[in-house]
Amino acid sequence: MNLRIALLNNIHKFNSTRLLSHYPVDDIISGITNEQIQLRKTIFDLAQKELASQAHKIDNENRFDGMRKFWRKLGNIGALGECIYFKLIILKHIVSTVGIIVNPKYGGTGGRYLDLVIFSEELSRASASVGMSYSAHTILCVNQIHRHGSDEQKQKYLPKLCSGEHVGALGMSEQGSGSDVISMKLRADKDGDHYILNGTKFWITNGPDANVLVVYAKTNPNAKKPQHGISTFIIEKTFEGFSTGPKLDKLGMRGSNTSELIFDNCRVPKENLLGEENKGVYVLMSGLDVERIIIATASLGIMQACCDVAFNNYAHQRKQINTKNAEFQMIESKLSNMYVTTALCRTYLYNVCRAYDRNHIAAKDCAGVALYVSEKTTQIALDAVEIVGKNGYLNDSVAGRLLRDAKLYEIGGGTSEVRKLVIARGLTKEYS
Ligand SMILES: Cc1cc2nc3c(=O)[nH]c(=O)nc-3n(C[C@H](O)[C@H](O)[C@H](O)COP(=O)(O)OP(=O)(O)OC[C@H]3O[C@@H](n4cnc5c(N)ncnc54)[C@H](O)[C@@H]3O)c2cc1C
Repeated sequence: MNLRIALLNNIHKFNSTRLLSHYPVDDIISGITNEQIQLRKTIFDLAQKELASQAHKIDNENRFDGMRKFWRKLGNIGALGECIYFKLIILKHIVSTVGIIVNPKYGGTGGRYLDLVIFSEELSRASASVGMSYSAHTILCVNQIHRHGSDEQKQKYLPKLCSGEHVGALGMSEQGSGSDVISMKLRADKDGDHYILNGTKFWITNGPDANVLVVYAKTNPNAKKPQHGISTFIIEKTFEGFSTGPKLDKLGMRGSNTSELIFDNCRVPKENLLGEENKGVYVLMSGLDVERIIIATASLGIMQACCDVAFNNYAHQRKQINTKNAEFQMIESKLSNMYVTTALCRTYLYNVCRAYDRNHIAAKDCAGVALYVSEKTTQIALDAVEIVGKNGYLNDSVAGRLLRDAKLYEIGGGTSEVRKLVIARGLTKEYS
């Protein structure tokens, strides 16, 4: 037996906390590497131990008190290093899970997007709201700074975002500007070495918590094409003239704080322009494909959690008319649909992500996987509620929470209709 396999076998001993109440993911079928299988196991244990037990409280109180501490833990999980291979994995993947795809030079781990996908999926499976905050941090904020920042900007902002000392967010949407993001009204007027920002952003994930925010604003509201007048800025929470509104009381994703961002003559140094002036639309658009992959990922985590709830906890335990619920044909039909749909979604997602990692960026498939997985997740959450019967209709039931959380991904980060537009336009382009 070679050393690597011996270490892999050994590490299983440290990861024996997989509970009966979780339906295991068959990663031989999903086709990920041995290292990624190990990564999932490690993250599953961490997320189930640290998050799943709190998910109900986070939802119920609309608050995650331990967020900062958990962020730091994600940034540095050295305490797990009990064997060499574990340490290798930690070095490779986990030292900075909040900067998983960031160049090690800036405090990241230089991983692949598929690593991030596996991580994010398991986090959402344990707590969808924390998974959502994690996605906003890593993909909406860290990824944009990593891709478009100057060396100085990366040196300045990424290490603390990667270590978990800082929380990140992204402000694109406004009260009057959602799907039609180009119609944004936030103004950024040049004033010597600064830009002065005036206006608001709305519905911003991590808004109340973020130390660093990537924000889009109009630097030329009179541009011939409105998309040509947008610029991107890195905002620090402490900037003069910046504040946030009260957190929103949402239907789902509770505990992932969402708020308004308020800019009242907010002075932003010109060094904080991310990318070129008036070319912010390219920064914005360049992030959308991977954002859609991550939306599908977070949805998949919820879908897997629905399987966890419906397969193990209930259907195979509860009996009616002396028969296990799971053995009634109509429930069998639902369970098998849930199983196959989840496996299919995972396969499509991982393949699109693998292609993305190879720089094959297929916009219609990034939109396609977000569309398909998010819509299926809502359906599967409805099935989970139905399978657990009256208990699923309680406000504090896991199935009920998953249903409320699932719906978000058909809206947030672009609606299903907009994803369909992207797919249809992609197809049309291929024929023109
Ligand atoms: C919990 C949550 C967190 C969020 N976090 C963030 C964040 O961190 N940062 C951020 O910038 N934004 C965030 N958003 C905003 C989110 O990106 C927007 O909600 C989304 O882009 C849709 O915009 P809208 O809600 O204004 O809907 P609208 O654009 O007003 O759309 C309303 C309806 O009309 C349909 N519609 C609109 N345009 C078209 C069209 N051209 N063709 C067909 N149908 C159309 C839509 O599909 C939808 O059904 C968040 C939203 C939520 C709910």
